[in-house]
Amino acid sequence: MDGGVVIVGGGLAAQRCAEALRRGEYAGRLRIVCAEPHRPYDRPPLSKELLRVDAELPSSAFRPEEWYLERNIELLLGATATALDPDAHRLELADGSTLSYEKLVIATGARPRMLPLFDGYSNVSTLRTVEDSNLLRQLLGQGSRLAVIGAGFIGQEVAAAARAAGVEVAVIELESLPLVGLLGPELGRWFAELHSGEGVELILGEVVSAISGKDRIESLTLSDGRSVACDHVLVGVGVVSDVAWLEASGLPATGVPTDASGRSELPDVFAAGDAAAVYDPFLDRHLVSGHWEASSRQGMQVAGALLGREPAPAPLPSFWSDQYGTRIQYLGHAQLADEVTIEGDATARDFVAHYRREGELVAAVVAGRPRAVGELRQRLNYLTEAALL
Ligand SMILES: Cc1cc2nc3c(=O)[nH]c(=O)nc-3n(C[C@H](O)[C@H](O)[C@H](O)COP(=O)(O)OP(=O)(O)OC[C@H]3O[C@@H](n4cnc5c(N)ncnc54)[C@H](O)[C@@H]3O)c2cc1C
Repeated sequence: MDGGVVIVGGGLAAQRCAEALRRGEYAGRLRIVCAEPHRPYDRPPLSKELLRVDAELPSSAFRPEEWYLERNIELLLGATATALDPDAHRLELADGSTLSYEKLVIATGARPRMLPLFDGYSNVSTLRTVEDSNLLRQLLGQGSRLAVIGAGFIGQEVAAAARAAGVEVAVIELESLPLVGLLGPELGRWFAELHSGEGVELILGEVVSAISGKDRIESLTLSDGRSVACDHVLVGVGVVSDVAWLEASGLPATGVPTDASGRSELPDVFAAGDAAAVYDPFLDRHLVSGHWEASSRQGMQVAGALLGREPAPAPLPSFWSDQYGTRIQYLGHAQLADEVTIEGDATARDFVAHYRREGELVAAVVAGRPRAVGELRQRLNYLTEAALL
């Protein structure tokens, strides 16, 4: 029997969509088609607690197997969608089989970008899956030398976990400061000092120009001629929406554009999470969020649309990161700011950075003060209300 709702991808957005559909009393057939062999699981722990070498290795699965059985949610694990025929309402899978749907939800997430220079070496990895995390944790246990390419959040969290395990860490970043494009120089300097203070060799404004080693990388040569010896290389230079499998259906490779409720331009096809470029009425453009909270909300938003409900207002952009025991939280639209002020003790990792535009708060970064977030969120919520005007 075919039909019903088919969710392609089995990550956070898929899970939240399935939960909300059953909670909303959707009684039809519901299938989750996922390339990974695991039940849907949460990714943030993969670069945080699950990288601790003394970790007990709890599963980060969202729900036990019975949960899906009780709700009659069919999990097709290890099943990769390879093509979509939107006119026939049919999905093709890698094993040659096909599935028909009434409504399709694309929630295939994102895959890490890899740099061609590193292709073919055995001691290079990225971090997206539980297998990637397990591999890294084993390497960290060896007290080795790790080179991290890219000082984004993944690179920084891995660097922090590696330092905690006593690993020598070099982070190589193209920009002049970590996250400077996203958070500006004030916070960029703070992140740089955070890592340098913890013994990370932070190399800024440089790229890898050559590699020494045959099958395994032994050292990296930087654009200024410096050499960085390493046992393993972690490439953390961002992600791209995992939507190449949709190429023939005419959807862009940069993420499936949707309206605020997750509806795509194809009939009966919706998208959520890192695979979706959702219309942001405040910025007046389609955006792939790349973060947990938005993916979770979008999964629920699509379920709402499938249940015939009005879309909720676009949430405030937000994310968090855990590094060296400090939680760092972000809210708002930092790119709109013309001024940044830091209140608190940056050296003690206990502060709020206020981003203002013409005196009006437009974003905030909070370090070590999780209780400050609720009030900041309230103050910033006008940004989502403004979007509705
Ligand atoms: C290590 C790590 C740490 C993170 N930490 C944070 C954090 O601290 N804060 C934060 O805000 N965000 C964080 N994120 C981002 C957050 O986890 C993602 O935004 C979120 O997981 C996106 O959910 P998703 O459901 O869209 O995609 P995913 O969780 O990536 O799930 C997509 C699923 O679809 C499957 N799939 C792909 N292609 C196909 C196909 N063709 N057919 C079938 N299945 C397919 C994939 O195998 C995968 O299982 C982190 C991400 C990672 C990787």
